[in-house]
Amino acid sequence: MSKIQLENVSFSYQQSGDFSYALEDVNFEINEGEFVCFIGPSGCGKSTLITLMEGLNFPSKGKVVIDGNPVSGPGTDRCVVFQHYSLFSWLTAKKNIVFGIKQAQAGISTKKAEEIAHEYLEKVGLADFGGKYPYQLSGGMQQRVAIARALASDADIMLMDEPFGAIDTRNRMLLQDLILRLCENEKKKRTVVFITHDVEEAIYLADRIFYMEPKKIKLDITVDFGSNRERAKVFGSERFLSIRNNLVSMFYDGIDSEAVAL
Ligand code: ADP
Ligand code: MG
Repeated sequence: MSKIQLENVSFSYQQSGDFSYALEDVNFEINEGEFVCFIGPSGCGKSTLITLMEGLNFPSKGKVVIDGNPVSGPGTDRCVVFQHYSLFSWLTAKKNIVFGIKQAQAGISTKKAEEIAHEYLEKVGLADFGGKYPYQLSGGMQQRVAIARALASDADIMLMDEPFGAIDTRNRMLLQDLILRLCENEKKKRTVVFITHDVEEAIYLADRIFYMEPKKIKLDITVDFGSNRERAKVFGSERFLSIRNNLVSMFYDGIDSEAVAL
């Protein structure tokens, strides 16, 4: 079933005058429960797409439809994780999560919200760190708290904009495995939109990859490694190499002429 649909979407940040589009005639459908990665060069419109799905911006033309209804603003059915840890610095890890739960579920008791917060801190391996403030946690730990907060809000859709972009390689791998495991083992199968500029990360995580060039989706690739994927198996497979080579050559397209122009 279609969860998110973009129909002939164009978007410009300028409302009038001599403007250009950040996105032009974008069409796609994301099914319920799918993990979709968007990949493409910097400035091609990936973050802009997230703001449209989030309901912070609205298409200049066309429409963004979620669960059959045009998006009219942000909603508790969607949660967002950014590259820069968006935790409140004056709240402990646990209170950050409680805050997220209370925003999403008005009227929930503090006790119940604290129970849920603890459960999610456990899921991300931070059960003993609930009382710490963000400045007392490493970048990777802060991002785990942000993921726990997003998951605890119980939204159907997770919008993630380069969430692991600022994390070192080892912690990045741990977080990739964590997000895969959490998304697979949750009772509810969430729909995930995950932006990255890392080709290998996209192939490892995604059910489907949209490769973008400026303003457009150029390619829609189905990645069929299934659930419970193992890193070593995926990275060593022919299919992985073929998708990676395909994507890398697209990134390379035009780089020679750019170098000459420099
Ligand atoms: P990406 O996330 O793929 O790097 P963005 O969606 O951030 O790309 O940007 C797409 C285009 O929109 C770029 O040309 C960028 O300069 C422009 N843009 C992004 N944010 C704004 C903004 N707030 N105001 C004006 N232009 C913007
Ligand atoms: Mg971006």
